[in-house]
Amino acid sequence: MRIGFIGLGNMGGPMALNLIKAGHSLVVNDIRREMADPHLAAGAKWADTAADVARDAELVLTSLPGPKEVEQVCLGGENGIIHGIRKGGVYADLSTNSPTVVRRLHGVFAEKGISMLDTPVSGGTPGARAGTLSIMVGGDEAVYNKVKPALDNIGDKVAYYGPIGAGSVVKLVHNMIGICTLQLLAEGFTLGVKAGVSPQALLTGVQNGAYGQGLFLKATMPRMIFKGNFDHVTFALKLARKDVGLATELAREIGVPMPIANLVEQDLLEAFVHGLAEKDSTAAFTIQEERSGVKVRDNSAK
Ligand code: NAD
Repeated sequence: MRIGFIGLGNMGGPMALNLIKAGHSLVVNDIRREMADPHLAAGAKWADTAADVARDAELVLTSLPGPKEVEQVCLGGENGIIHGIRKGGVYADLSTNSPTVVRRLHGVFAEKGISMLDTPVSGGTPGARAGTLSIMVGGDEAVYNKVKPALDNIGDKVAYYGPIGAGSVVKLVHNMIGICTLQLLAEGFTLGVKAGVSPQALLTGVQNGAYGQGLFLKATMPRMIFKGNFDHVTFALKLARKDVGLATELAREIGVPMPIANLVEQDLLEAFVHGLAEKDSTAAFTIQEERSGVKVRDNSAK
């Protein structure tokens, strides 16, 4: 495939190299010219502007820092992708971008007869180098099927998530959960170490438990939350509230601030006020559902 690639940084650099290795013909660009050295050595061509990168491409890819750079490279001045890409061409953004910006750009490209997908990635630089990224695709499914073989050369978990913007929503949710979880691990591990347990012993204990075995994602979400199955009590909310209460009590005794755990404890108390104490502990999920005005249900889940 003839591919234009803009943004050859930590992620884009190795992704573009993998596309060259897979036999695609690449035209590349980065504001830092030297970032293209390995690609030019491997047979890619250089273009000075985004419009020129896009001119002969069947697929144009960007891997840029964020919304501002993506908008500028797509539309900017006379030299944006939109000024070079041919009708029938496909533009896909691999950056982590705002779903609102992605949808706006999709509309601008559509007016010119050009398809756009959002294709953010996860897996870090090791995944980018190894070609084992998760690629979260949003947009028209037929367009996705057309470019999937090329995406398969940079990721081994390439999946379609829904209309334009869906890939970016999934990516933001994923990263938000991951980043916030790390801060929660920080609370837990500082509590544990200050309470006298070694980091390695804590790690083993957490890894061996239900949380560490990945049960929330593998079982709790599809079997309990998606089905609203809160009357089937395997671990009562009153016991979960007791456990979080004991942990925050210990933290106060030994002087460990735990902002996230204390906020969660308030949610559990609120669930008690709603009469959920005797339900399954997963019923606390409904406190956030009420705040946000949506329910997370899917009865088709297995
Ligand atoms: P990076 O800063 O290393 O790469 C971005 C590249 O874009 C740089 O080489 C920069 O010179 C180039 N660039 C900036 N503005 C440009 C412009 N106007 N025209 C041409 N080139 C331009 O960032 P990265 O870590 O490779 O991340 C790229 C995207 O992927 C980001 O949206 C990031 O959030 C996302 N992401 C990063 C990781 C990671 O582990 N680094 C993982 C998943 C997703």
